[in-house]
Amino acid sequence: MMIFENPRVTGVMINYYFHCKRQLWLFANQIEMEHSSDLVLIGKILSNSFYKDKQKEIKIEDLIAIDWLNFEDGVIHEVKKSDSFEEGHIWQVKYYIFYLKKKGVMVKGKINYPKLRVVRDVELEYGDEGRINEILSDIIKIVRSEEVPKREDKKKCRGCSYFELCWT
Ligand code: SF4
Repeated sequence: MMIFENPRVTGVMINYYFHCKRQLWLFANQIEMEHSSDLVLIGKILSNSFYKDKQKEIKIEDLIAIDWLNFEDGVIHEVKKSDSFEEGHIWQVKYYIFYLKKKGVMVKGKINYPKLRVVRDVELEYGDEGRINEILSDIIKIVRSEEVPKREDKKKCRGCSYFELCWT
């Protein structure tokens, strides 16, 4: 399988896969409402003000967008506005590390939670590459489906840009 093609799986899609399959489907099928979400705006402001001096937002092949990169120690950083840790955050960064490794670039990752003032380390561990391949296959199956996945438990919907679409 050409894992980075048809559809091209972005880092955001990996995060949505863990958060909500419906969110993944809507995003991948270009139902975009991100700009209407206050949380998205807050995230941008937080990330701009906390990390002013770093090399910002590096996009690679329109597939992954690294929030900033520390050239000295080869660490990529993902900034999360959230006030809770989510499994999808970890896998998003693992996917970036995996993707760059396939391109011959070895990096480690960190997730910065400015609201929590916490930084978490992320590395590819034994078995992760196989798991990422499974996740990619599953994502492709979901986004190619003509059926929109069911809504999640409403508790998970706080701050989601599709809230109005799903619940009104
Ligand atoms: S509002 Fe809830 S159900 Fe709808 S896409 Fe977002 S997280 Fe999923």
